[in-house]
Amino acid sequence: MLLENKTALITGASRGIGKAIALQMAKAGANIAFSYRSSEEKANAFVDELTVLGVNAKAYKSDAANFEAAEKLVKDVLADFGNVDILVNNAGITRDKLMLRMKSEDWDDVIHTNLKSVFNLTKQVMRPMMKQKGGSIINISSIVGVKGQAGQANYAASKAGIIGFSKSIAQEMGSRNIRCNVIAPGFIQTDMTADLDTEGFIKNIPLQRLGNGEEVADAVVFLASDMARYITGQTISVCGGLSM
Ligand code: NAD
Repeated sequence: MLLENKTALITGASRGIGKAIALQMAKAGANIAFSYRSSEEKANAFVDELTVLGVNAKAYKSDAANFEAAEKLVKDVLADFGNVDILVNNAGITRDKLMLRMKSEDWDDVIHTNLKSVFNLTKQVMRPMMKQKGGSIINISSIVGVKGQAGQANYAASKAGIIGFSKSIAQEMGSRNIRCNVIAPGFIQTDMTADLDTEGFIKNIPLQRLGNGEEVADAVVFLASDMARYITGQTISVCGGLSM
């Protein structure tokens, strides 16, 4: 199996794309540590679902935007699992508003949750990965981070920041066999996109439909695995061709 004997830490994985990533990674043989923000019940039910697949799994209530919480999270995961081979920075939010109406809190919330979280978690796994002489970090950006989007200046800035950050980490850590790549999803069916009127933009998607979490997760599993051992600093769009 592609990820046998590896441990993956995924942020914000009790629903949506993060949940799909955790499931696909478990199916590929990885042990799964994941963080969630609010529903302990949902997180525990998901742990049971993962354990049935024959891997170790544990949920941690942890705010990815908080530096100290991220420090504790990685400490706890290392104590429970022994190592972290794969980090997936998935946690993200939107606070969509046109710039004229965007408040300072809308900017701060999105930048902290989407971008600072990537710094927080990456910082904590670097030393353990160096000790293990390898690791794979996968950051979930968005095609909006490349193209921009009216009404999403805060979100687009956070997602563009992830791409620059990831390329820098790839350059800093390549000699240590730590790879850092980005997935840029297009429109994926989750709670985040549930309220969007998608009919208008489906016609602009070459594959003529929205994507699903599993399709993003398959690309993440590939980047996490040794199949991608010579790939670092790259952004792969999983968007049905929309970003062309
Ligand atoms: P979602 O809202 O369904 O899930 C986001 C998850 O992140 C939730 O489980 C939430 O609890 C968690 N989260 C939020 N803030 C957190 C915090 N501070 N600490 C820990 N966890 C936190 O959204 P999704 O569609 O599954 O999005 C997952 C990722 O994919 C996000 O980074 C999002 O920006 C990105 N993305 C989504 C789409 C899409 O179309 N759905 C497109 C491009 C990128």
